[in-house]
Amino acid sequence: MQAAPNWTPDQPIVALRDVHKSFGSFEVLKGIDLEVMKGEVICIIGPSGSGKSTLVRTINGLTPVTSGSVTVEGQEVHDEKLDKLALRRKVGIVFQQYNLFPHRTVLDNIMMAPLLVLREKKAEVEERARALLAKVKLVDKEDAYPAELSGGQQQRVAIARSLCMRPDVMLFDEVTAALDPETVKEVLVTIKELASDGMTCVLVTHEMGFAREISDRVYFTDHGRIVESGPPEMIFESPQDPRTREFLSKVL
Ligand code: ADP
Ligand code: MG
Repeated sequence: MQAAPNWTPDQPIVALRDVHKSFGSFEVLKGIDLEVMKGEVICIIGPSGSGKSTLVRTINGLTPVTSGSVTVEGQEVHDEKLDKLALRRKVGIVFQQYNLFPHRTVLDNIMMAPLLVLREKKAEVEERARALLAKVKLVDKEDAYPAELSGGQQQRVAIARSLCMRPDVMLFDEVTAALDPETVKEVLVTIKELASDGMTCVLVTHEMGFAREISDRVYFTDHGRIVESGPPEMIFESPQDPRTREFLSKVL
């Protein structure tokens, strides 16, 4: 996917404008405005059911919007003419469920999409996959099968798999929510390193300490709306809206 001809890197790489999404008569997103600059890390926090997953899924086109605009590098994501495959390459997503292929090795899992979807050369993909395994600190696991790994290790493989498509933006939707507490940290460290390498990241997380540490900006959502957004110090130390305060009082 090419950036829009009039897009320049000083404009938001991701922009949502008045995004609405309904499932039947149920409006899940009620006018979302959000911008992410290249290299920024933003966190979306808020109660369960407030629309966080739906919001991030609109960014790589997994969930179509009912109205409003979502752009990535100035290209309208929900334009029918947009090459969806190119969009998915550009915007990676990692979920709570890592869904690795159980009968494929770690290395094969990471290489599969670039080989089969992008039809890239095997030698190049393999080199990249090995470098990514080093990055997520799993070099010695390339021949292992997913079931031989801990949840945290599998999630790191899932992150490497997504990175092997060379995305410009990464979306993380509660990627540590299903992990044992002792493996949560290693996944957060991986994301933190990625962020400090300059990757643009949109994270949905319940790890408030992490959100506070890593984000350039935090968005608090409730009932399909962004109630409040700002730098982490502001959201966590002096939230303005009573709903934000109530939420934080329960989770901090
Ligand atoms: P969160 O990630 O904040 O928990 P979600 O975006 O998953 O919230 O869901 C927001 C609301 O939308 C929930 O009430 C959920 O049941 C509803 N919802 C999400 N996906 C669908 C769908 N595909 N069909 C119908 N309702 C959905
Ligand atoms: Mg969710």
